[in-house]
Amino acid sequence: MTKLTHLTLSEALAGLKKKEFSSKEITQAHIRAVESARHLNAFITETPELALKQAEESDKRRAQGKAGLLDGAPLAIKDLFCTRGVKTTASSKILGNFIPTYESTVSANLFRHGAVMLGKTGLDEFAMGSSNTTSAFGNVISPWKRKQNSNADLVPGGSSGGSSAAVAARICLGATGTDTGGSIRQPASFCGISGIKPTYGRCSRWGIVAFASSLDQAGVFGRSVEDCALMLKSCAGFDPKDSTSADMAVPDWNGLLKGDIKGLRIGIPKEYRLDGMPSEIEKLWQEGINWVKAAGAQIVDVSLPHTKYALPTYYIIAPAEASSNLARYDGVRYGLRVEEGNLRDMYEMTRAEGFGAEVKRRIMIGTYVLSAGYYDAYYVKAQKVRRLIQNDFLEAWKKCDALLTPATPSAAFAIGENEDDPIKMYLNDVFTVSVNLAGLPGMAVPAGLSAEGLPLGLQVIGKAWGEQTVFNVCRALEEAAQFSAMPAMKDAA
Ligand code: GLN
Repeated sequence: MTKLTHLTLSEALAGLKKKEFSSKEITQAHIRAVESARHLNAFITETPELALKQAEESDKRRAQGKAGLLDGAPLAIKDLFCTRGVKTTASSKILGNFIPTYESTVSANLFRHGAVMLGKTGLDEFAMGSSNTTSAFGNVISPWKRKQNSNADLVPGGSSGGSSAAVAARICLGATGTDTGGSIRQPASFCGISGIKPTYGRCSRWGIVAFASSLDQAGVFGRSVEDCALMLKSCAGFDPKDSTSADMAVPDWNGLLKGDIKGLRIGIPKEYRLDGMPSEIEKLWQEGINWVKAAGAQIVDVSLPHTKYALPTYYIIAPAEASSNLARYDGVRYGLRVEEGNLRDMYEMTRAEGFGAEVKRRIMIGTYVLSAGYYDAYYVKAQKVRRLIQNDFLEAWKKCDALLTPATPSAAFAIGENEDDPIKMYLNDVFTVSVNLAGLPGMAVPAGLSAEGLPLGLQVIGKAWGEQTVFNVCRALEEAAQFSAMPAMKDAA
């Protein structure tokens, strides 16, 4: 039999249902796997006791015929989701000892469906980054290695890199992530797994540490498209506690999943053909085009003319919202407090010590673009361009049902590379940020390997609320790509 940690989530659930193994057994196998993969630093907090308790409860529920959609399946939760009674740090020193008294809606929904939590995964501080090198709790390391020069530790992508590394390393069956500008799709692509960011408003943001509220959206990572569809179905849905949560029915995405995309029109945006794009990315994209064509889809060329403004627009709006959201960390209500001089000194020292360099950079950019005199020139202008970017997609939907693009402009890079050049780092999200600016669903699926033997992903972008089409196109790509490469792993004891 396949090792319990190597099953997909759907296979594991089928095994639990058939009583081939118990939740306790599969949870124990994963706890051992987590321990044996500590060198990756994927988890900030491991919760083995909680996991075993949840597993035992799950086994009892199953015995009584009351099992939920994810009952007994060990998952990991990004450490940006507040979990009641379990430390939630956002990878920041300022929240280093923060233990929420409440549960985020998304994690509560997963638990309601019976999920077991193995722990909280690392991320870039406050989800700001693409490499997991801005965490106050150390870098997360990708389980993947280059074929040559295999000593270099690679980034798992970011910001949800702890989750993507954990799913790729087979130390959990699936995981949650959040995506403000690419933080699910880029790490999924770097780690050779699938990840979806749904339509803005699909998942409640309640209880998720806020970065940029008009862009943040929760989503999931899995080792198959079906796993992602099942997990997303379990955590999505209307929540009156989040005023931007949409009152939309959640479809049976995994039940309706099919790789037959006959008659679907797939758009290829010409502006995504970047100057100087590595030829292997170009080739992967062409392969993806051939695959969807072979699956019966029709290819149409489309134009998203404002694409070149997406990154600059994002890097005005996201820091603006972040600077406002992060004003709440003042040493009074949350986490770290540095007792120093008068009240003002206390605020200043707390923030100076509590935030890392990238977070401070964003707060400064955000404060600047929101300040009197610059507000119209930067922030208001960016909002107007954001609308033009949204309109580009609305135009494209007149001609096609979904878009196919590369997920990232390169494979994973080594820890330390790009570090001295924030602009180069920001370029990682060149294919993903427009999707957040427009509030659309986007999904990455593994599609091939680079010359260095590292995973490369394709991205499918859908219409608002068009997750089913996104899943189906991704399923067709998954069937064609037959991606089966795995990172080398130490065996669990
Ligand atoms: N890499 C982008 C940033 O640093 C996106 C991060 C995210 O999606 N949370 O802002």
